Amino acid sequence: MALSADELRAKYRAERDKRIRPDGADQYIRPVGEWSTLFDDPYVTPTDRPPQHRDVEVVVIGAGFSGLIMGAKLREAGVDDFVIVDRAGDVGGVWYWNRYPGAMCDTAAMVYLPLLEETGARPSMKYVPGYEIHEHAQRIATTFDLYERFLGSTHIEALRWDEDRARWIVTTDRGDELHSRFVTVGTGPIARPKLPGIPGIELFRGTAFHTSRWNYDYTGGDRYNTPMTNLATRRVGIIGTGATGVQVVPHVARSAGELFVFQRTPSSIDVRNNHPIDPEWYDTLEPGWQKKWLMNFTTLQTGGFTDEDLVKDGWTDISQRIRDRVVALVTERGEYNERIQQEAYEASDDEKMEEIRARVDRVVHDPTTAAALKPWYRQLCKRPCFHDEYLEAFNAENVHLVDTDGRGVERIDATGVWVNGTHYELDCLIYASGFEVGNEQTGDDALPITGRDGVTLHDEWANGMTTYLGLATRNFPNLFHMSIAQGANLVSNIPHNYWAAADAIAAVISFATDQAVTCVETSQSSQDEWVANIASNTRSLFGNPDCTPGYYNNEGRGFGERERLNSTGYPLGAVAYFHMLEEWWNSREFSGLEFSGSR
Ligand code: NDP
Repeated sequence: MALSADELRAKYRAERDKRIRPDGADQYIRPVGEWSTLFDDPYVTPTDRPPQHRDVEVVVIGAGFSGLIMGAKLREAGVDDFVIVDRAGDVGGVWYWNRYPGAMCDTAAMVYLPLLEETGARPSMKYVPGYEIHEHAQRIATTFDLYERFLGSTHIEALRWDEDRARWIVTTDRGDELHSRFVTVGTGPIARPKLPGIPGIELFRGTAFHTSRWNYDYTGGDRYNTPMTNLATRRVGIIGTGATGVQVVPHVARSAGELFVFQRTPSSIDVRNNHPIDPEWYDTLEPGWQKKWLMNFTTLQTGGFTDEDLVKDGWTDISQRIRDRVVALVTERGEYNERIQQEAYEASDDEKMEEIRARVDRVVHDPTTAAALKPWYRQLCKRPCFHDEYLEAFNAENVHLVDTDGRGVERIDATGVWVNGTHYELDCLIYASGFEVGNEQTGDDALPITGRDGVTLHDEWANGMTTYLGLATRNFPNLFHMSIAQGANLVSNIPHNYWAAADAIAAVISFATDQAVTCVETSQSSQDEWVANIASNTRSLFGNPDCTPGYYNNEGRGFGERERLNSTGYPLGAVAYFHMLEEWWNSREFSGLEFSGSR
């Protein structure tokens, strides 16, 4: 029997309270010290190369989609003298690292994959696998001649502004010293793997690895879905049932002798409905189609109106339900207020989550397992997941859900995992425990970026990010952030944020080059105004302390001013931000920036 709205709220609260921990985000093991090996690259052995000491116009930090789009846009703007630096041995960012079986993007390829028209590419499916996304990243690099500008397996150690020469001095762990006029920083929001801080984790003597560094030597198989035959006689454990765990489980389930999935909080699993993209239909798309699709998706996903829903999926579904309810309530009551928005959100969310829980009952045969797999929180408290094989996997005899009822794994020892006083003996333990979330410059291990007068960006941002348009910070001339925070903050389609930022940054850099100026910096007043504008945005998706804990709400602690500034976007929303930014750079006036010095 369905619960009343009040009973549902009470159930959500009780489930949340079970999971609140005093150590919050500190419960995780960070990739530093003895755990810094978490960053090791299992895919390439870095080749020897002489250190580079030279002047360069632009250093692009990060070769994920942010750096690749940046590189493409610089080339389009006629700026050719740049290097792209990345810790990884190849381009691709998260799609380079995350090669776990089943890796796939939950955002439709037509809008997720950048520069489809420019590269002449066609996605194979509505949602494409990780290896196809990585291949697309490589295609962008090839199309725009970015490989010849790529410094891979290279970790940037520090950046220092040289006021006299108006250049950034960029040093790396390969002994490079690049003197660069401009720098763009696109290190991504989920680049640093973390481990669960479970007592005894260091004791395990079987094979253990994090999903972002998959050990195919041990498991056999490959990321192209070749069966992992080495697991056939093995007992495998997976800790973590977030977006990654959900994608990994069905694949390991097919290969492993026995699979134990250790669950602390179930994810919400909506339908996937993947299907191939028809090449004939794809060829009929008019030039300029991708920009149209991007704005269509963003508009619908953020509650706006369009004539049609081009992408039509779980991301646009929930926002359209809320939007249509708001319209109905406004029509009925003859007025609009925040309460209506809240009511529409709650009713749509209750409806959606009921559907998601009912799906568990329909798919999973064992009632106890089904009950444990039901999520009891609002859909956007955690990252929504979409999959058509995950729930099904628990019907297989070799797959065992070990539900910890919100408490998490008790401890780990040399031979396995303890939960509720029971020991699960394992040969292999896979950590699908996620990543440190946030801009690399806001975290404790921030890249040392020293601007004017010896001030570091880390100190400058001690109380939260300060930017103009999300792109630039006073006292850090010629340095541009490729971040989603303080910009569009469109989390459902991260590359769209980078596309917009790259257009704007490339326009500024090419303008500064044409005008032969040496320095571009945001004015203090523009920055102050922008930060005040961001701080006024109380409608963030993140930071709700009433939600079940996770990285969306600082593990249940909610957000203070600092976290809000680090994670909030333009108050008028992503669509308004994208339009405003395009007008700003298209005007070639670049209001709010100061240009100075001459070459
Ligand atoms: P998450 O942080 O979302 O999940 C980590 C998981 O580990 C959670 O289920 C968490 O449980 C669990 N966990 C942590 N500590 C313990 C413990 N002590 N005992 C048991 N379980 C524990 O990481 P993911 O890698 O799954 O996802 C990170 C992000 O990566 C996603 O949110 C998404 O943005 C992105 N991603 C995107 C994909 C795409 O389609 N584009 C695909 C995969 C990932 P609990 O929930 O209780 O905290």
